[in-house]
Amino acid sequence: MAKEISCREAGYDCDFMIRSEDENQLIEFVQEHARETHDTQMSPTDIRGAWKTV
Ligand SMILES: [Zn+2]
Repeated sequence: MAKEISCREAGYDCDFMIRSEDENQLIEFVQEHARETHDTQMSPTDIRGAWKTV
């Protein structure tokens, strides 16, 4: 099972979307994107609450 998270579903006007079966990698990518693109800190808990299983 893979996890998928997208900025648009999180309410951002942004086309970033990532899908991965590696939860830790996905969390790292999302944190980096949130920090660099949205100047936002996301905790692993935030990310776990925002992704969907695909
Ligand atoms: Zn984004």
